[in-house]
Amino acid sequence: MFDITKIRNDFPILSRKVNAKPLVYFDNAATTQKPQLVLDAMASYYSLTNANIHRGVHTLSQEATDSYEQARIKIQKHINAKNAYEVLFTCGTTESINLVANGFSQLLQAGDEVLISYLEHHSNIVPWQLACQRSGAKLQVIPMLEDGSLDMLAFEKLLSNKTKIVAVNHVSNALGTINDIQTIITKAHQVDAAVLIDGAQAIAHIEIDVQALDCDFYCASGHKMYAPTGVGFLYGKERWLDKLPPYQGGGEMIAEVTFDKTTYAALPHKFEAGTPNIAGGIVFGVALDYINSIGIPAIAAYEDELLTYATAKMRAEIPALKIYGTAAQKASVISFNIGETHNFDLGTIIDKLGIAIRTGHHCTQPIMQYYNIAGTARASFAMYNTKEEIDIFVAAVQRAQRMLS
Ligand SMILES: *Cc1c(COP(=O)(O)O)cnc(C)c1O
Repeated sequence: MFDITKIRNDFPILSRKVNAKPLVYFDNAATTQKPQLVLDAMASYYSLTNANIHRGVHTLSQEATDSYEQARIKIQKHINAKNAYEVLFTCGTTESINLVANGFSQLLQAGDEVLISYLEHHSNIVPWQLACQRSGAKLQVIPMLEDGSLDMLAFEKLLSNKTKIVAVNHVSNALGTINDIQTIITKAHQVDAAVLIDGAQAIAHIEIDVQALDCDFYCASGHKMYAPTGVGFLYGKERWLDKLPPYQGGGEMIAEVTFDKTTYAALPHKFEAGTPNIAGGIVFGVALDYINSIGIPAIAAYEDELLTYATAKMRAEIPALKIYGTAAQKASVISFNIGETHNFDLGTIIDKLGIAIRTGHHCTQPIMQYYNIAGTARASFAMYNTKEEIDIFVAAVQRAQRMLS
């Protein structure tokens, strides 16, 4: 059962005040708040277990190693990866993409092509630009349409036997568009291209089965799914992780080191140099347990209800509203502008009323260039938000609009 009162009580920050008003937190696409049991697990790890992992014979080290590897298995199960060693811990989506792009910069050659999309976050653009600069490969971009969906016909035309990897997001952080990644993966595989999915916005909202999708790589960040910052994962098919060169050199990732030659550790350790974010990894698993105790289908249904309610109410009650991103398949993100009002001014005024939204380009400048705007205001909902908060938000936006006009 989806019990909104219980869920809200799980998140201590939701009872604080901002500028003497109850906090309304609508910046969930940037980062989500943390439930008490995640905070407790973090404190408990450092209070009772803290030790370095994988090396120690002592009890604390073994306990920490077990918990960390259990968390890897939780991620494996959550995304239905075939093997736990296909799940690498990283510090987040950005590092996951860089790991793959850096590896590909050594596999790509002049004449090869990397295909991304107009809807990408900068972290799924810049690493591929770097990989193309280093390798001489060419960056191609799937165009977008006015409603914020991808131009799938253009995508098919851009695919060729030159395409070596297609890297797209599952859900756009700026517009909320849910991309048809199944079709993208199937078509890309027909030309033998690998596919990387940036799942940063999907992980807390959509059930993911990497084997059913058959994607080659899937990336996500803990902090967008109720876990701490500084931890995330990269799923990679064993075949690809074997083929990619190591990302960073250091402790943990080696089998044997001499000054002449180093051999690398087996997966996943080949890609996990140095002491990782042990507490973060363990607590990532706790956050997954929390999400699964509520259930992604229930979360998605509730967030859809919030999206529908907010979209209708905003359209009815806010004059001169323009919503960017109106694709049929959409997650709970509303990017908008109001007449000539600057999104930054709007965000600043409603912050005074206790409401947190994001303003600006959302690390997606190409999307802003497409719409020929500097930025948008963005409200993004999580499972702990309510229709009452949406009412408060709409009233605050109306008030800001009166002040600014
Ligand atoms: C947040 C986000 C990223 C970057 O994630 P980090 O946690 O900052 O590494 C990449 N892609 C999308 C779609 C995002 O929303």
